Amino acid sequence: MAATIYYNDDADLGLLSDQTVAIIGYGSQGHAHALNLRDSGIDVVVGLSEGSKSREKAEAQGLRVASVAEAAEEADIIMILTPDQVQAEVFKNEIEPHLTEGNALFFAHGFNIRFGYITAPSGVDVAMVAPKGPGHTVRREFEAGRGVPALVAVEVDASGNAKNRALAYAKGLGATRAGVIETTFTEETESDLFGEQAVLCGGTSQLVQYGFETLTEAGYQPEIAYFEVLHELKLIVDLMIEGGIAKQRWSISDTAEFGDYVSGPRVISPEVKENMKAVLSDIQDGTFAKRFMEDQAAGGTEFKKLRAKGEAHPIEKTGRELRKLFSWNKAEDDYTEGNVA
Ligand code: NAD
Ligand code: MG
Ligand code: MG
Ligand code: MG
Ligand code: MG
Ligand code: MG
Repeated sequence: MAATIYYNDDADLGLLSDQTVAIIGYGSQGHAHALNLRDSGIDVVVGLSEGSKSREKAEAQGLRVASVAEAAEEADIIMILTPDQVQAEVFKNEIEPHLTEGNALFFAHGFNIRFGYITAPSGVDVAMVAPKGPGHTVRREFEAGRGVPALVAVEVDASGNAKNRALAYAKGLGATRAGVIETTFTEETESDLFGEQAVLCGGTSQLVQYGFETLTEAGYQPEIAYFEVLHELKLIVDLMIEGGIAKQRWSISDTAEFGDYVSGPRVISPEVKENMKAVLSDIQDGTFAKRFMEDQAAGGTEFKKLRAKGEAHPIEKTGRELRKLFSWNKAEDDYTEGNVA
């Protein structure tokens, strides 16, 4: 295997024993990082803006909360876990003025460094610890004695010890229990954006919507269509995670497996791969980043319009009704705590 993978024995939590870690933001990733590091014995301070609704929640969970500027001032390691689109602003106004030589600036995604929205002053380590899972899973797995795999990368090694600091942080998160893969900011950023746009989020959402539309437009009941193209997706994906596409194909009926071979390439035809290459190219040359950031700067007009259009798709209404019937579906429709991609 080409990739370098680190485990518990490769990381020394002791490197953080005299350090304070500031977690900026308390959303999906923020709450998981703060709680896992705290439970690993590390001194944590959560940095939030004065009016933040998360203040109460973080304090109730026994964490120390300060303003972003105070947290950045006090800490040796500052992990920025606000949404990507506000990081540059928060950095410029509330973090950069408090960075001193020997500090480390950490990220869970390389977007702002890769596309040049943030540049750290000299003397400061810049590294990434990016869990490959939603924050709520990062917390749940840690509590269960396991961990979510993560990526580590070093952009600037000012201290000569940046990678070891990142590995120690990853250990505090529980990630070295599962395995931590070494990468670069460029590789992580571009591959993460590509994965979520082409396959995980963009590709899958569109595939499910087209499947639902095709069935309902042909007169099939929406409830049946929902089960066939959305609900069962999780069961299929679980098999893929356990044993690859091969295990998924082994587990399904021969009828389904044959249909997979003959119809998969008809639906996802070779031109889809050409489209994927165009998406990757827009990521690599900064076209996507620019479009996202310019829209955000203008109040997120395009973003809000696209979100409203997605929410108005008939599959959402059908799903809301049906999910009420699943007594085991405790998560309900509570996806208000943050993104997962
Ligand atoms: P989120 O939207 O869930 O939470 C953001 C937090 O930042 C909230 O607590 C919010 O109150 C706070 N915040 C927003 N604006 C702020 C400001 N101006 N000043 C201070 N705090 C502010 O974010 P997230 O999804 O956890 O993403 C954080 C980072 O982690 C991003 O870089 C993202 O790409 C990365 N990441 C996320 C996931 C995930 O599962 N969500 C996975 C891997 C990496
Ligand atoms: Mg990702
Ligand atoms: Mg079926
Ligand atoms: Mg089979
Ligand atoms: Mg969100
Ligand atoms: Mg992402």
